[in-house]
Amino acid sequence: MKVLVAGGAGFIGSCTSEYLLDNGHEVVVFDSLVKGHRDAVDPRADFVQGDLGDALAIERAMVAHRPEGIIHFAAFIEVGESMVDPGKYFRNNVACGLNLLEAAAHNDVRKIVFSSTAAVYGMPKTIPISEREPTIPVNPYGESKLMFERILRWYHEIHGLQYTALRYFNAAGCSPNFGEDHNPESHLIPIIMQAAEGKRESIKIFGTDYPTPDGTCIRDYVHVLDLAQAHLLALESHEVGAFNLGSGAGHSVRSIIDTVREISGQEFRVDEAARRSGDPPRLISDSAAARATLGWKPKFDDIHEIVESAWRWRCDHPKGYAR
Ligand code: UDP
Repeated sequence: MKVLVAGGAGFIGSCTSEYLLDNGHEVVVFDSLVKGHRDAVDPRADFVQGDLGDALAIERAMVAHRPEGIIHFAAFIEVGESMVDPGKYFRNNVACGLNLLEAAAHNDVRKIVFSSTAAVYGMPKTIPISEREPTIPVNPYGESKLMFERILRWYHEIHGLQYTALRYFNAAGCSPNFGEDHNPESHLIPIIMQAAEGKRESIKIFGTDYPTPDGTCIRDYVHVLDLAQAHLLALESHEVGAFNLGSGAGHSVRSIIDTVREISGQEFRVDEAARRSGDPPRLISDSAAARATLGWKPKFDDIHEIVESAWRWRCDHPKGYAR
């Protein structure tokens, strides 16, 4: 299949593009490089530098490359920033995405897979979280992703565009060739690794008084290559709807710090800090539907293996994608 990957120069987009190419598919990466990196585009892929805010640019890319399927990763992802500048999130993650859907609708694209998030659930009441959990986002980032899921439903009903929304829990790990290099970095595992590399003074634990065994938040870390597998399965499936993707295991912030310490062999300072607003104490996925319906078989259920793959990529790329 020929697949247009919007946001294919980002972390999950680059690993998924590589996975598609490894499995015999053709990939066209469409990315503005505002957040992504040119070197994160697999050399086997075609590359179009463009912004989804530019309706003509995405239309032209679609006409030139005629993809049968689309995977849409192109979005801003920082929860904290979305609480300060909601307009930036609704404009980019919702309004700009509409240009992609319009171009898909009148270029006979069969299927779109959308990169969604567990943030659509807000403060879930039931753990593990299934797709039946009410969707009540608590920040503009999660709201923007939920709005786009709802828009997809109408493009399906009205234009017949099939869609699958994949609600990721905490994406982690790396492929040997492509990794996580955000600026600024806001995610736990790469931040701890920066401390281990001596690139930051310390790691701050946001909240140590949560109702969890060690007082720190629990998250479900899922390997990016397992996410990549799910995207290909979703692309090939005729199922329409939303699926959770997580490992089903919960790890506290403290335990992740210990794991990085063990794998890196480095000591670093850990500070206890105030809670970060909007953090649910515990997020663990029930991904039974993705397994049963899409045939998803995640391969990485060991957090050590996940963290080790991320550490290995950083050792091989000490400056990230910077030359
Ligand atoms: N976290 C932390 N210190 C940091 C970054 C994150 O204690 O410097 C915590 C954060 O409060 C949350 C967990 O680590 O409980 C995972 O945060 P991340 O931003 O990686 O992902 P999220 O779960 O918010 O999507």
